[in-house]
Amino acid sequence: MKKILCTLGPASLDARTLRRFDELEVDVLRINLSHTEFDQIEPWVRMIREHARAPICLDTQGAQVRTGRLAGGSLTLEANATVELVATPAEGGPGRLPLYPGFVVGDLHVGDLVSIDFDSALLQVVETGPRSLARVLSAGRIGSNKAVSLDRATALPPLTEVDERALTLGRRLGLRHVALSFTNRKGDVELARRFAGPDAEIIAKVETRQALERLEEILDAADAILIDRGDLSREIPIESIPLVQKEVIRRANVAGVPVYVATNLLESMIAGSRPTRAEVNDVINTLIDGADGLVLAAETAIGRNPIGCVAMIRALIRQFEQRRIGGLEPPWSDVHESSASRLVPPHGGTLVTGVAPHLDAAAIVSLQRLDVDERVMMDVRQLAIGAFSPLAGFMDREMLARVLAEHRLPSGTVWPLPILLQLPAGRGDRYASGETLAVADAGEVRALLRVSECYRWDLSDLAARWFGTDDAAHPGVARLRQGSDWFLAGEVALLPDELRRRRPYELTPAQARLVFEHRQWQKVVGFHTRNVPHRVHEHLQLTALAEHHCDGIFVHPVIGPKKSGDCTGDIILKSYQLLIRDHYPPNAAIVAGWAAYSRCAGPREALFTALVRQNYGCSHFIVGRDHTGVGAFYPPEQSRRFCESLAGEVGVQLVFSEEVYHCERCGRHVQRCEHGRRYSEQISGTQARETLRQGRMLPDWFMREDVSRLILDELRQGAEVFVA
Ligand SMILES: [Zn+2]
Repeated sequence: MKKILCTLGPASLDARTLRRFDELEVDVLRINLSHTEFDQIEPWVRMIREHARAPICLDTQGAQVRTGRLAGGSLTLEANATVELVATPAEGGPGRLPLYPGFVVGDLHVGDLVSIDFDSALLQVVETGPRSLARVLSAGRIGSNKAVSLDRATALPPLTEVDERALTLGRRLGLRHVALSFTNRKGDVELARRFAGPDAEIIAKVETRQALERLEEILDAADAILIDRGDLSREIPIESIPLVQKEVIRRANVAGVPVYVATNLLESMIAGSRPTRAEVNDVINTLIDGADGLVLAAETAIGRNPIGCVAMIRALIRQFEQRRIGGLEPPWSDVHESSASRLVPPHGGTLVTGVAPHLDAAAIVSLQRLDVDERVMMDVRQLAIGAFSPLAGFMDREMLARVLAEHRLPSGTVWPLPILLQLPAGRGDRYASGETLAVADAGEVRALLRVSECYRWDLSDLAARWFGTDDAAHPGVARLRQGSDWFLAGEVALLPDELRRRRPYELTPAQARLVFEHRQWQKVVGFHTRNVPHRVHEHLQLTALAEHHCDGIFVHPVIGPKKSGDCTGDIILKSYQLLIRDHYPPNAAIVAGWAAYSRCAGPREALFTALVRQNYGCSHFIVGRDHTGVGAFYPPEQSRRFCESLAGEVGVQLVFSEEVYHCERCGRHVQRCEHGRRYSEQISGTQARETLRQGRMLPDWFMREDVSRLILDELRQGAEVFVA
C-alpha cells in the first residue's frame, strides 16, 4: 500500500482536519522544524495525538542557511543597495538581513554570492570583519525563514542546535520517525540516530548534489529516503529532476529501502480546487516509477484545501492500484464519478432517475389520464429525481406490508415510510397492471406511471400500523381517511420538460451532490426544517458541524403545502440566505428548498427525512428532539429510539440533539449547563408569531435581529409570511 505523508502547518493543525486526515488514512504526519518554534512541539504533539492515530515525524532544520526573523515579515532589497548581514537572533529590518545559523556570517568571504529563496534575490559579499556588507545584484522581496544558499560549499553541521533538542524531546515523547534534512553522508544518519534513539526510523532526505553522489552509503544507513525535488532543484538543473528522480527511486527499490517523493505534487491545489493534468500525471508516474509514498508539503501545511489534497492523492493511489493498462478491461470501463469524491453513497447504492422518453402530444393524449393533487405530484417528482432512492415508484401491496411490519423493502433495505398513491374517494376507475397512465396535475400532463398493481387496503388497519393510531384527530389519519381504500402501485417517470421545471432554490439530489463536490465538501450535515431560523436551529447546525468535523451544512427546509400558522417557503429561504451570508463562517452552508410536505408520521418520518438527505449527499443528519412531531401523538424520545434501532443499517449518520435552551446566566444556548433550567427563557412558536404579527421584534437571543427585521419588513409590505 502506497503511503501518504502530510506536512502539518497552520492549514491543518486543527481537530477537524486532523480527524479527516485520520479517516483518509494518512500514514505519517510531519512537523517541519524549520517552521516550528521549539516550545510549540510538545503541545502540538499532544493535540495531534488527541485527533489522529498516524505516527508523527519530526523533520529537522538540517544543514541549511536560512533568513532570520524580519520586522514586518518581509524585506525588499533594491538593486545596487548595500545590506548588512547580521547573525540571528538579531532581527532584520531596512538594510539589515539576519542569517541563521548565526556563525555563517563570520565565515563569509568577500566575493561570495548569496542567493535567497530560490533566487528571489541575489547578493554579493563586499566587506567582512566587524560588519559584513553585501551589495544587491538582483532585487527582490524576501521573507523570514527562507532558504539561503552560497555559491561555495560551507561546512554546516547536519543538525542544528534546535534539531538536537527537538530530537531528544521527540524521543522522550515517543516519536519514532525523523526526516533528516540535507543528509549528505552516512555519518549524518548515524548522528541523528544518536539523538532520536536506536529504534528511530530515520528518513534521509535526498536534496543535495552530495547526497546523490553518496546515495549508496545513505541507502545503507537510512531506514527510508525522501527525494525533495524542491531543494534538489537548487543544486541541479530543474530539467534533470525527472530522470534523477527515476534513478534514485530505482536504486532505492534495488536496495529494498522505502522511497518517498516530495514537492509540488499538487501545487495548484494550494490555492485552487483542482490539480492540473500535469500534476495528476506526475503523481501517477511517480508511483509507476516505484515510489513507496508521496509527501504533501505546502499543500497541507499552508494550502487552502488540505483535506481535498489528501482525498485527491488517495484517489490517485486508488487509480494506480487498480491500474489496468493493456488488459481486457480498459481503465475507462467503469469510470463514472470522481473517486476523490467521498460523499456518502445514496441509500440503497444508486440514485434513481425516472425520466420518460420524449413523447409527442398525440401519444400523450392516447394514454389514460390520472389527475392527481399537489401532494401526489410532489411524490411523483421526488421519486423521479431520486430523492426517495432506492424507491422508483409507488408501493405495491407486498412492499407496503413489509414496510408496515418491518420498516424494510422486500430487498431487505431499511425503509420506514409508506409512499402510496391513494385513489380519491368515490372514483370508480380501476387500472390494469402494465398500463401506462399520463399523470396530470392542474390540468397538465407531467409524468407517466406504469401500473404494476391496483389494490385495496383497509384504512383503519393502515392508519393504525402506519401512524400508530386510527384517531381521526391525528392529521395523517384524517388525510388518509379522505381518500378511498384503493391504491395504485407502479414506477414513475417525469416528462423531460418537467424535470427541468423546478422552483427557484430547489436542487435535485444529483445537483446537490454536484454543488457539494464543487465546494469540496465530503461530510455534510443535513438539516430538515419547516421554520425560519431561530437561534436554537443555528446552535444545532453549528454544533453538529463542529462536533462531527463536517465540511458544510445543507439546510433543506420544506417548501411544499403548509398548514395554518406555518411559515411560507419563501420567507424561510430568504431568512436562511441572510443568516448564511451574514453570520455563518464562509463556505459553511447552503440552503435549498425541499418540495415536499409533512406526512405527520412521527418516528417513521424522522428516519425517512434522514434517508432522503442521504440521497442528497448528506453524511450526517440532525434529528431534533421532537423531530417531525405531531401534537402529542409521539413522545419526544420516540423518534430517537426508533431511529437508533435502525441506525446501524443506514449510511447517513444520525445526530440526535438534546433539547436546547437559552440560559440567562450562561448568556448563550446550551444543551445542559450548571444552572439546569432555572434561568432558561422560553418563547413558544405561537407567541413568536404573534409578536411578529404585531410588528414587534423578538429578543435577539431567540431570533437574530436582522432575521426579525426581515420578517417585519415582509409583513409590512403585505407579503404572506405565515400561512393563514
Ligand atoms: Zn447556565
